[in-house]
Amino acid sequence: MGIGGIGGGSTKRRVEIPSYRIQSPPQFSITLYRAVLLGASIGLMYIVLGQSQYSPLQSPISTETPERESESSSFHIFKSEDKKPEKELDFILKKAAMKDRKTVIITTVNVAWTKPSSIFDLFLESLKIGNETQKYLENLVVVALDPEAYNRCVRLHPYCYSLTTEGGDFSGEKKFMSEDYVKMMWRRIDFLRSILKLGYNFIFSDADVTWLRDPFSRLYEDSDIQFSTDLYLFNSSRSRPNLPNAGWFYVESNPRTIQFYKYWYSKRLNFPGVNEQDVLRKIIFDGSFSNETGVDIRLLDMAYFGGCGGGLLAFANNNPARTAYADAAGGAHIRKKKVVVLGTGWAGTSFLKGLKDPSLDVEIVSPRNYFAFTPLLPSVTNGTVEARSIIEPIRNIVRKKAFDVQFREAECYKIDTKNKKVHCKSTQQNNVGGSEDFTVDYDYLVIAMGARSNTFNTPGVVEHTHFLKEIEDAQKIRKTVIDCFEKASLPNISEEERKRILHFVVVGGGPTGVEFAAELHDFVIEDLAKLYPYLKSYVTITLLEAGDHILNMFDKRITQFAEDKFRRDGLDLKVGSMVTKVTDKEICTKERATGQNVSIPYGMVVWSTGIGTRPVVMDFMKQIGQTNRRVLATDEWLRVEGCEDIYALGDCATIDQRKVMEDIAAIFSKADKNNTGKLKADDFNEVINDITERYPQVVIHLKKQQVKNFLQLLKNAQGEDELDIEKFKLALSAVDAQMKNLPATAQVAAQQGTYLADCFNRMDDCEKNPEGPLRFRGSGRHRFKAFRYKHLGQFAPLGGEQTAAQLPGDWVSIGHSTQWLWYSVYASQLAHKSAGDLRLGKAFHIRKRLK
Ligand code: FAD
Ligand code: MG
Repeated sequence: MGIGGIGGGSTKRRVEIPSYRIQSPPQFSITLYRAVLLGASIGLMYIVLGQSQYSPLQSPISTETPERESESSSFHIFKSEDKKPEKELDFILKKAAMKDRKTVIITTVNVAWTKPSSIFDLFLESLKIGNETQKYLENLVVVALDPEAYNRCVRLHPYCYSLTTEGGDFSGEKKFMSEDYVKMMWRRIDFLRSILKLGYNFIFSDADVTWLRDPFSRLYEDSDIQFSTDLYLFNSSRSRPNLPNAGWFYVESNPRTIQFYKYWYSKRLNFPGVNEQDVLRKIIFDGSFSNETGVDIRLLDMAYFGGCGGGLLAFANNNPARTAYADAAGGAHIRKKKVVVLGTGWAGTSFLKGLKDPSLDVEIVSPRNYFAFTPLLPSVTNGTVEARSIIEPIRNIVRKKAFDVQFREAECYKIDTKNKKVHCKSTQQNNVGGSEDFTVDYDYLVIAMGARSNTFNTPGVVEHTHFLKEIEDAQKIRKTVIDCFEKASLPNISEEERKRILHFVVVGGGPTGVEFAAELHDFVIEDLAKLYPYLKSYVTITLLEAGDHILNMFDKRITQFAEDKFRRDGLDLKVGSMVTKVTDKEICTKERATGQNVSIPYGMVVWSTGIGTRPVVMDFMKQIGQTNRRVLATDEWLRVEGCEDIYALGDCATIDQRKVMEDIAAIFSKADKNNTGKLKADDFNEVINDITERYPQVVIHLKKQQVKNFLQLLKNAQGEDELDIEKFKLALSAVDAQMKNLPATAQVAAQQGTYLADCFNRMDDCEKNPEGPLRFRGSGRHRFKAFRYKHLGQFAPLGGEQTAAQLPGDWVSIGHSTQWLWYSVYASQLAHKSAGDLRLGKAFHIRKRLK
């Protein structure tokens, strides 16, 4: 539920809290726990002053007529005629209580807090200006702990009640946990019980709580008592390790809660010198209260009722003591861990979609403020699909998140691992006011910047050709195609020039180039030919491919079908043709078959020869010593090799699968527990699953060799039961040859994003209970299972409503029906499961709009 859900007025209703889990990042929880405990305790260092000469519940009648703080104050000060404290209290509560139910808001103040421009002023101000909170000023009863506080209260507020404590000296500043302080806190509990006994429900709020929003819509309807928390675990309002904070809570008046207050108050005797909050924590943790009193207690999610800041909080605690502490010593632990995500493509967006841990702060940096469904990009070039149909604003996506998210439309140009910062530059052309450059600190960095188009440094490509990677590229291509037709329609154009202008060249026979060529063919033949019938005979479309075949990553049957179809359609398909240079009007190639250099005049070139590494990623790789690589390498958990807390996924990274041979000695010795230097079949039983999990190439090898299992492989190799290390090596020597890099596709990127989000969501759980395979070269287990790619099939739309599909299990499907499959698979498997919000229906809608 987003912010929109807050502010439901004064009618109490239960709001579904999203079903996320709360985990803290590794090594974070214990420290956080301690820091929060300490911070919260210090946060409760009230400065209390009091007057011992008044008896409990006695209302000190001020001899002075209270002067009004300002002329505009128009309230009446409510005082009962009856001077008995109980009557006085009842009188004020009755006046202040919400009309539809007997609920009041209670706070306590002392002289220090009511000084002008101090905590009390801020408290009232927050209620005045908070979101839908102003109405609660009418329900606020201020309990003054000394006469001066009372006098100050009545100048500002109509419902003031004076409470003093017998036997304690509250006239001076009280140190946290001093005897008088503890006594005072217990006094407060006893006093609140008297409110319940009078039949009033209440919210107790420390005066150092800033009310930012209406809290009622976030409260549970079916609960007796609801405490704010300093630690909220397991996404459960009933989780016993949650730490209640007695600085903000809601209590309904009923026999159970009155009993509970009695029970809580009595427990002070079991824990002498312990304050009321710590006793509360003990009785909630041991669960004793529920049997004794039958009360239902809920602990409120810190995401909404918390003291650590954040946009979705209903409240923020302003306690100066806590703030000072947090800044000076514990800030690093108390503040949320920040995840910075670079990029809003397939990988980045599916990561953001999957991320649920509300204990994180997220900042996204990307030059695009939307996600683009790239498989439909070629269809934007000819207008069968509108650009706006295939994008989803990133702010829309993250708006629904339970954690804080910032989005910056900017480009990261440097990653500084030493200082854990990224340097960014706004991509707004006119960045009016302020500097264009800024830095963003991170605790975890997720690099999902995708790749750039690869030009292979071919001269003239950047200047004269079109890429097809972004929405803008597709729109520009569409405009250029039409411009070419208009140009060719002008008078005084020579035949030759007309032919040149209407010569469209696509460089690169991969899926994108092939699909674009097919789309362009459909567009030109079916749409433009009708609008410019006299130009039809001038149009040529050429597809240049340096290799021997187009779609060479597909099954041969598909390649063959595509090549035949293109030739039938009249597309000029040139294989073995390598582009060496592009000028403004000519594209130069070297033909492998003849060795000739050829110059071809053209009107428009679309360059689609694959992807390369972005300069910022290259620079980063240099920094971290990945100099001998072409793509940023990560381990199987998507962590950048050689970096703590940096992850990379999607097109900008590649997984460096660990080789069995690199670890062979370690694997052997983990299996050889009794150190005999020999392994029997039985020795493997315990580690087989870990081996196949850690080294998936083993499984592929077994499948390829049609070997039943790992033991059989060892047996086949040796024909004997016992292996020494040399024989073991020999048996596994061919396994690593099965390792393959994953393709740079949306499928991979989206699955990686989902996987990484899941790891982030479960960091704490998996830190405690690692679920990954054994660490063969170290001790213990890996925290998580390694990333595994699940191939869902690959499609190549070929124009004319024909699509080729290569599906898992070596299935090949080509033809008209496959086109529908293509849309449905993309819509359901990719979009629905992991990234964009495109649904099947939308994909069909897109399809229907075809002409
Ligand atoms: P991208 O999706 O490219 O996202 C990269 C993100 O990083 C973008 O938001 C970009 O703006 C941002 N970025 C760039 N530079 C910076 C920077 N300096 N700082 C911060 N952010 C930055 N795959 C398939 O599986 N099936 C298909 O049918 C298919 N068709 C395709 C058709 C076309 C025309 C294209 C171009 C690609 C197609 N792909 C397809 C491939 C697929 O789109 C990519 O593999 C996928 O987009 C990779 O996801 P990614 O998140 O790694 O990168
Ligand atoms: Mg991405």
